[in-house]
Amino acid sequence: MLKRVQMLIGGMWMEGFSGERALIHNPATGEPVAEVSIGGREEARMALEAAQRAFPEWASTSAETRAALLHQAAALMRERVEELSRWLTLEQGKPIRDSRKEILMAAEVFDYYAEEGKRIFGEWIPTGSQHIRSWVIRQPIGVAAVIAPWNYPVELLAWKIAPALAAGCTVVAKPASAAPIAASEMIRALHDAGLPPGTINLVLGPGRTVGAELVENPISRKIAFTGETETGRWIMEKAAHHIKRVSLELGGQSPMIVCRDADLEKAVAAAVRRAFSNMGQICISVNRIYVAEEIAEVFIKKFVERTRSLRIGNGLDPDVELGPMFSEEVRQKTRDHIADAVSKGARVLYGGHEPDGEEFARGYFFLPTVLVDVDHSMRVMREETFGPVAPIMRFRTIDEAIALANDSPYGLAAYVFTRDLTTAFHVAERLEAGGVGVNINDVTELQAPFGGWKESGLGRELGRWGLESYLELKHIRLAL
Ligand code: NDP
Repeated sequence: MLKRVQMLIGGMWMEGFSGERALIHNPATGEPVAEVSIGGREEARMALEAAQRAFPEWASTSAETRAALLHQAAALMRERVEELSRWLTLEQGKPIRDSRKEILMAAEVFDYYAEEGKRIFGEWIPTGSQHIRSWVIRQPIGVAAVIAPWNYPVELLAWKIAPALAAGCTVVAKPASAAPIAASEMIRALHDAGLPPGTINLVLGPGRTVGAELVENPISRKIAFTGETETGRWIMEKAAHHIKRVSLELGGQSPMIVCRDADLEKAVAAAVRRAFSNMGQICISVNRIYVAEEIAEVFIKKFVERTRSLRIGNGLDPDVELGPMFSEEVRQKTRDHIADAVSKGARVLYGGHEPDGEEFARGYFFLPTVLVDVDHSMRVMREETFGPVAPIMRFRTIDEAIALANDSPYGLAAYVFTRDLTTAFHVAERLEAGGVGVNINDVTELQAPFGGWKESGLGRELGRWGLESYLELKHIRLAL
């Protein structure tokens, strides 16, 4: 029996009006796992109207009550973590332990914003007259449309839904069409927790119709989007028509600089993990590694050894470290980037093709790939590959490495490995990125802002910044 995934509109689970459904396949085996209802513009409009009707009550609900409901949803997600993780691995391919981490992190995000919502403080403003009083309050923007991609389908929706609800906004959520199962189960947890009908809505269907309606319809006052830079550009243009608030988390092309005084073992382990985990399908993946010439030979040797030892297989196997890629489309883009690099002089030290073996025949498997002799004329150094490729380039001076790292239209994350404090500050302060990891391969911290410079995005998620983006300021001036 295939799992059925439906929309949630105004508190009712429903099919799309056309009755159309799409199959979701397991990227490790090609087998169908679920049947998803497909909606269109009309269902998206209905969901926006339901959210609009629910808004006044939810906006005036006390922060305490909202927090209790969000905590309850988080508790349900933890209770159901095994089921949700399994669906996430079945639809997306990532190893089950990574799926578990994603679900638990999403639950933590709901807990965090439940409490943060109690701290939406106002401010008292001094005035020029003793007969006038002025103060500023923060109020929810209105209906928020939140749109997420397939690589972290649960967590990236949670980053948006949790602060929106905590702020008092009502929400229409649209997951990626190709990975909606675990996301819909997260929304089921919110519904089961007892959120009033219409407060959280789920629509399913193509970005070009359902997503476009959420963006273009004047009911949505805020668009929170994670996805490709091109889609983000289109959303920003459309949002301009109604001067909507937008936050955009877009593509990345993250550099890692490994200085000659770096702790080599740590740098290699961190680089391998961040280049290949989730098969490189992470916006903050390490996409370019710049290594000081003096240590390049030994760094590359250790990097290849470690890459070779990674266990590839069906993500449901608890020992697997790398699952399949998400789709043939992303696997082909990876092949194209490798071929482009090789045609311009790069050498493949490991990988570059699918693994051999019957167990890999039907899934979108690909070997983690190490490239050397690369330069900035290659697509792999300039565009987002979104695949398991680690190109390694040598540098002579720190300033040369910084210039190479910044030579990109993207600016999401960047990393530096060094044991020298002065170098750490010098590099971290000069890298053009929304997040810099020093001797660490992750820039995600629940209480800190996450987002991109340049074409990697606009606005920030997580921490208090993530909540601010669902609030409007209001100045109230009173004559005594
Ligand atoms: P897309 O931009 O193709 O899709 C993202 C979401 O937008 C999907 O739900 C999609 O729907 C929807 N969508 C597509 N077109 C429109 C439209 N015209 N209007 C409204 N919604 C639309 O991205 P991918 O799913 O391919 O995700 C991969 C991308 O996400 C990568 O570029 C990656 O870097 C980026 N990303 C960025 C992160 C960050 O924080 N900066 C984090 C993670 C990923 P449908 O699925 O139906 O097409």
